[in-house]
Amino acid sequence: MRKERVWARLLGLERAVVESVEIDDKRQVVVAVRPHHRERDRCGVCGRRCPGFDLGEGRRRWRALDLGTTITHLEADAPRVRCPEHGVVVCAVPWARHGSRFTRAFEEQVAWLAVNTSKSAVAELMRIAWRSVGAICERVAQEAGREADLLAGLRRIGIDEISHRKGHRYLTVVVDHDTGRLIWAAPGRDKATVGAFFDALGEKRTRQLKLVSCDMAGWIEAVLADRCPKAKRCVDPFHVIQLATEALDKVRREVWNEARRQGQGDVAAGLKGARYALWKNPEDLTERQQAKLADIERLNRPLYRAYLLKEQLRQIYRLPARAAILLLDEWLQWARRCRLGPFVKLARTIVEQWDGIVAAIRYGLSNARVEAINTQIRLIARRAFGFHSPEALISLAMLKLGGLCPPLPGRVTVT
Ligand SMILES: [Zn+2]
Repeated sequence: MRKERVWARLLGLERAVVESVEIDDKRQVVVAVRPHHRERDRCGVCGRRCPGFDLGEGRRRWRALDLGTTITHLEADAPRVRCPEHGVVVCAVPWARHGSRFTRAFEEQVAWLAVNTSKSAVAELMRIAWRSVGAICERVAQEAGREADLLAGLRRIGIDEISHRKGHRYLTVVVDHDTGRLIWAAPGRDKATVGAFFDALGEKRTRQLKLVSCDMAGWIEAVLADRCPKAKRCVDPFHVIQLATEALDKVRREVWNEARRQGQGDVAAGLKGARYALWKNPEDLTERQQAKLADIERLNRPLYRAYLLKEQLRQIYRLPARAAILLLDEWLQWARRCRLGPFVKLARTIVEQWDGIVAAIRYGLSNARVEAINTQIRLIARRAFGFHSPEALISLAMLKLGGLCPPLPGRVTVT
């Protein structure tokens, strides 16, 4: 094998020729390369062969994977072509994505590490800033997304919103209930954002949707009615129970404030720390929390009633559909006359959302997967702190939860 071929193999180079290898004054390896003849004069954006324009800004370098312990760069001319569609652009090169200072193999390794290891491990091992990791994830996820077509064959999806960062910044995310994959996400939570999802999906695929789960937000409901009227809207059980938990919390605060106003210090003190006992699922309570709950039952009937209302609503989702719908109906009768403002209000909401809530029960749409994904997105959002944009966060999420993460470079034989 000729020496140049050995170098090309070591660098994982394809469709390119190694011209020379040197060590520069910073003791880094610099490999001069050029694309194969038929890879030249292609538009960096679309890859179309175009007439040459000029030599651009001369020689350029791309960071490649280290050779052993040594930082390595590829170096080549970066001439420009005039594309009929994209105007004057720098030529495509087979070893790097357009606009990147890194080689494909380098970027794929970074993406893989970003998905599979800690933040500091990626930055330190690859010797790049965390910020650059975000930009790399974006390029890799974008390309993989174009090839994978995550929007094919969808039947049952969940649409949800997730806040990332303080200051109420939101993402709208779409999950496939059948594969448990994150299939789409975008910054924002409004009609336009949900509309953008249906634009991406297209009319034909939208017509194939059977079930769409979501919370009770009017903006999602409005877009569904408009763009996807044939699919059944299912109200996520999780969001119903969440409303009950919030109602319970309101009752708790009202009772506590009332006790303090009336100078019942001991009642107020008894309620302190009751929050967790009331919140937790009864089967997860510690002994102390069980005692706390017994105190509430004894000392504070309204609050205990609120607790039972929340628990019974939760119970509904554990029953077979027919029994669940009957119990939900009974629950409504009870909540309407329970004389607890927040629960009377919740009863009204449930009546308004009846069709969607019953559909979720009837079709047994489990939101366990959506919740699991939401939890993971929140973790990713925390990790993505330091990325320059929500798009970078979305890219990392798509790599990890959308199945877009590339294999490590050189591990899959290219045929
Ligand atoms: Zn082009």
